[in-house]
Amino acid sequence: MTTRLVSGIWVLIHTATDRFSYVSGETSQGAKGILKMAFSTLIREDTCSECGATLSAASRHCSTCRADAGAPNVRACRTDENLKALVARYDASRSQASALGFSKEFSDLEAIVEKKSGVVVSMPAGVVRNLLDDPKSIYVNYERLVGADVRRPADSDNDRHRCAVGGQLFGSYADKIVYGVLSLTKDGLCTYGDVYCRLRSVTIEKRTSFLETNSYKFIRDHNIVAGDKLPIGYAACWICRHNLVLVKLSDSLSKGQTESDWQALLIHSDGQNRENDDFIEAHIFEGFNRNAIESVVPVTGVKLSREKRIDLDITTSKFNRLVGKTK
Ligand SMILES: [Zn+2]
Repeated sequence: MTTRLVSGIWVLIHTATDRFSYVSGETSQGAKGILKMAFSTLIREDTCSECGATLSAASRHCSTCRADAGAPNVRACRTDENLKALVARYDASRSQASALGFSKEFSDLEAIVEKKSGVVVSMPAGVVRNLLDDPKSIYVNYERLVGADVRRPADSDNDRHRCAVGGQLFGSYADKIVYGVLSLTKDGLCTYGDVYCRLRSVTIEKRTSFLETNSYKFIRDHNIVAGDKLPIGYAACWICRHNLVLVKLSDSLSKGQTESDWQALLIHSDGQNRENDDFIEAHIFEGFNRNAIESVVPVTGVKLSREKRIDLDITTSKFNRLVGKTK
């Protein structure tokens, strides 16, 4: 079977060994990223590489042989149709930037994203403190905590909204997704906690996918209702995250922009209303422990109560001691 992938640039060959390989012609920088991924990791996302059974899109493990098929949110980004749509959007953005004279900025931003970007999760200081205190403690998401009776649900409207959005994006594994943001620095979103925790990429890159915007906005802007097929080309796996950034930010490129300008474009918040936040959302399959945390940075410019300030001081010094011990 041969499938034309991107407007005559690539030809996707489904080989006799039932694995995909790509033959490339003239490839763009972003295309090379996906090409690299294709050679290194891409197998048929719907078929178990061990026993050949059909995989459930919502399960990490093959239900027949129990082989690890990879995080389902990542596999969803690596389908032919999503990759094709993402690369088409990326190539259109690159052409537009070139026509406007911003090719250098486009390439510079792409290189910085590939080299420096990672995931930051914002948390209340008390939560980070507990995570650092106990090496067995795992950071999990809202649905997990509520399901385990560890925390109270949000008010009824918020609770239904959260569960509905998670269900529409991920179905039955929504309770396993931890949310963060893509960032060029140690900073994340100040509207979700007192502390920014940047995660070590090596601990999450195989189980993290990215969505072009926050999931609430995505569902609303695309008028997605229960049962709808999700739009394609708006999500990316780790090694394609730069494609997603360039698709989103190419309209905002201008001469003389610096790295801090791009960070401000990548994560925008007025510090008050989450509705006004704009960012690329990271979806991490399953939780993480304290060893996954690379940096702990207090949110700046926010007035904190005395108790929170104490929590922050203890959290920061605890992390510094921990890092000092382990390095
Ligand atoms: Zn299997």
